[in-house]
Amino acid sequence: MMFDPGMVRAQFPVLARTVRDAPLHYLDNAATSQMPHAVLDAVAHHETHSRANVLRGVHTLAEEATDAYESARADVARYLNAEPDEVVFTSGATGAINLAAHSFGGGLREGDEIVLSDLEHHSNIVPWQMLRQRTGVTLKFLPVTDEGRIDLARLDSMLGPRTRLVSLVHVSNVTGAELNAREAAAAVHAAGAKLLLDGAQRMAHGPLDMAALGADFYAFSGHKMFAPNGIGALWTRADILDAMPPFLGGGEMILGVTREHTEYAPPPRRFEAGTPPIAQAVGLGAAIRWIEAQELAGVESHLKALTARALDGLAALDNGRGQIRVLGPAGLQERLPVVSFSVEGAHPHDICQILDGHGVATRGGHHCAQVLMERFGLTGTTRASLALYNDAADIDAFLAGLDDAIRRLT
Ligand code: PMP
Repeated sequence: MMFDPGMVRAQFPVLARTVRDAPLHYLDNAATSQMPHAVLDAVAHHETHSRANVLRGVHTLAEEATDAYESARADVARYLNAEPDEVVFTSGATGAINLAAHSFGGGLREGDEIVLSDLEHHSNIVPWQMLRQRTGVTLKFLPVTDEGRIDLARLDSMLGPRTRLVSLVHVSNVTGAELNAREAAAAVHAAGAKLLLDGAQRMAHGPLDMAALGADFYAFSGHKMFAPNGIGALWTRADILDAMPPFLGGGEMILGVTREHTEYAPPPRRFEAGTPPIAQAVGLGAAIRWIEAQELAGVESHLKALTARALDGLAALDNGRGQIRVLGPAGLQERLPVVSFSVEGAHPHDICQILDGHGVATRGGHHCAQVLMERFGLTGTTRASLALYNDAADIDAFLAGLDDAIRRLT
């Protein structure tokens, strides 16, 4: 089966709408991707036919809801080549990292060290700063190269006998740079520490193998991989997860409760207090099966070609003036289709607004990466981020709109 972007595009109903009398060109996929019929229908079918709470019930609907929820967990596990019991559903990547910071981080002591990087999204900085406040752990930050990559050459010098965790973004939501996770994992494990990867921007691009990657924790959000929002997961290697105490307490996460004592359920239930986002999990499972059914090698070359078209177009627009500055790797290797840039003399929000007038959805601002912005001496960038349903017309509309914006703003 050949990858056919037109056929894929037709499966996303929102892409048929117009914005300000122009066809929609949706290039804000790093913020949230759209949902295909397969996902919308799976959610609607579940809510229409099998809506009930999970675990508690013995009636048919409750059993169906529980089966659907647990089969979504199995879908996630298969996608990560991991075990279902290692997958804890959360509200998203932010929920997943906060869970790790509380449950794993709670076991750390003053003077223990955590290594982050200047490339991190705020959701992989703030929870660790909050942990630092609670426990006195030390945070260190790996620098970022001029290409917008984590400078792994500096990793060894940051690791020491007190390093407990290294928590890095797998693919940057600003520069698109993809981490060489195996290289990072080898150094981290040689130092006796654990590796958490923030996979929010990686998951839409195909299945992974947690063991081969060398991760100990993997965090992600469903809404960036064609699934509903309000769902994501933290995958954690079983031996680590088994030793972790719960973060939230409540129903569903217990074996028994007395006035004095609670016996917790084994993972993953121990970490899923209360009624979980059931329909959202069903949608996530459907999204995973939908991605698995795509011709992913074709998707990859399609997205590389579109990224090159965007980068070449930006260079042509700039025409050697040095007004447009791209934040990210110049080449297409170890890079996913996120294109961020600044335009001297034009504010990203103004650029986005003019682009919106052309039907082009992009994002402008600091992208929850203020440490990175400071590293590059910027307050924000404009970002076009692609998904497999994008096509050359989207890129061309973006470049034409940007040309208009630059003429009007500078
Ligand atoms: N990490 C990265 C790299 C992201 O791009 C995002 C979302 N922009 C997050 C974490 C947080 O994801 P969420 O808001 O879905 O929890």
